[in-house]
Amino acid sequence: MIPLEGKIALVTGGSRGIGRACVLGLARAGADVAVNYLIRQDLAKEVCSLVQGYGRRAFPFQADVSNSSEVNRMIGAVEERMGGVDILVNNAGIARRYPWDQVPEEGWDEIMRVNLKSAFLVTQAVLPGMRARKWGRIINISSGAAATGGVVGPYYAASKAGMLGMTHGYASLTLKEGITVNAVAPSLIETEMAHRDLRVDPKSTPIGRMGTVEEVSEVVVMLARNGYITGQTIFVNGGRHMT
Ligand code: NAP
Repeated sequence: MIPLEGKIALVTGGSRGIGRACVLGLARAGADVAVNYLIRQDLAKEVCSLVQGYGRRAFPFQADVSNSSEVNRMIGAVEERMGGVDILVNNAGIARRYPWDQVPEEGWDEIMRVNLKSAFLVTQAVLPGMRARKWGRIINISSGAAATGGVVGPYYAASKAGMLGMTHGYASLTLKEGITVNAVAPSLIETEMAHRDLRVDPKSTPIGRMGTVEEVSEVVVMLARNGYITGQTIFVNGGRHMT
């Protein structure tokens, strides 16, 4: 296990939910953290203050990570203010409810852009620096839906399954370069997405409760510290899907 002191992490969608827990977990493990957000600047600033309380650096960076020019602007700003990104957590994502047989084409495009293309854009932007430094960790927050179909819909499951293919592709290409690429696939975690967007019934989970954001972030921190696990998907799902 490698200590994360001196490493710079970037968490997309770090203002709340699973991303926020990843920011705090990585900072507790020693990393400085760039906190990306889309709209909730108040929450992004609040999580940065908590990180500074641990004696680590953290700054908020606004960007729509589904847009290449915003991603390139954000990565430029992170590099200028904090240094090159060593640990990337591709976490930003959305879930929209549509009747499964009436998904609008723009709904499909939006989910693919925000959940899948964003991870490609940010990965492409940080990989040259990781390759030059011969060290990097990329952790993609997929979903149990990639394996089971899930509770949102086929469009969401497809975006999250796409992340797994992307994980395998980048992992196999970076094997010899000190870079690991893995996915974490949660299901039914207590966040605004699960409660407000999806109205999940906690009793519907096999284990009888929803997962906590910390139960996801501790896996992300483990993957950031481990140099031998690559190309894997770790399910954090309370027994919803067994592998
Ligand atoms: P959440 O509570 O809704 O938080 C979403 C985060 O993503 C927020 O920080 C939001 O920023 C950010 N975001 C959304 N669109 C963005 C964009 N275009 N550019 C930059 N940031 C953007 O979601 P969550 O439940 O924590 O989910 C986090 C990830 O885990 C997602 O990829 C989700 O699909 C996945 N996941 C969640 C569950 C679950 O049960 N919760 C299960 C499986 C997988 P603002 O705060 O600025 O809006």
